[in-house]
Amino acid sequence: MPYTLPELPYDYSALEPHYSGENLELHHSKHHAAYVTGANTTLDKLAEVRGKNDFSTLVGLEKTLAFNISGHVLHSLFWNNLTPDGGDRPGGELAAALDEHFGSFDAFQAQMSQASVLVQGSGWGALAYEPLGGNLIVEQIYDHHGNVGNGAIPLLVFDVWEHAYYLHYRNVRADFVKALWNVVNWADVSKRFDQARGMSA
Ligand code: MN
Repeated sequence: MPYTLPELPYDYSALEPHYSGENLELHHSKHHAAYVTGANTTLDKLAEVRGKNDFSTLVGLEKTLAFNISGHVLHSLFWNNLTPDGGDRPGGELAAALDEHFGSFDAFQAQMSQASVLVQGSGWGALAYEPLGGNLIVEQIYDHHGNVGNGAIPLLVFDVWEHAYYLHYRNVRADFVKALWNVVNWADVSKRFDQARGMSA
């Protein structure tokens, strides 16, 4: 099955003033779309490689596949992590788990913000559930797939590629990250936490 670009769960202008509609439209309709196309194109090329039984291009194709599928996965997650009705703080079991694993919500928020702001080049900050230890961790993802521990399930991701914010926030990545906290969909993050905890290591 080819990958397809998902619709956003809200209008392009819905996250304003925290995220400009112009920036969001380009981000979704051009940048995310390119990863979807890239994933499909790479799968087609891999089928050709298998058909010819000539694997001389395999290493590059595997890297391209990881890059594009991971880009598609993270953007699909990112859109659902945001909502015009978001912000504030989580409640319930997610709130308790953040306290347990990070000391407090404020400490989690500081680590997540700094992990995002301090990415060198292009990448993401992520809150993830690590099933082997049953831990909540913050990851700093390079590109879409580097520096990630295997098996951890991302629950909340912040895109800090320049394409994510440059039109709206110019060079000030920290202001974009600060604004994202106003539109986090904690109900979505809590749902993902509940689902992830149901998975065995
Ligand atoms: Mn992006």
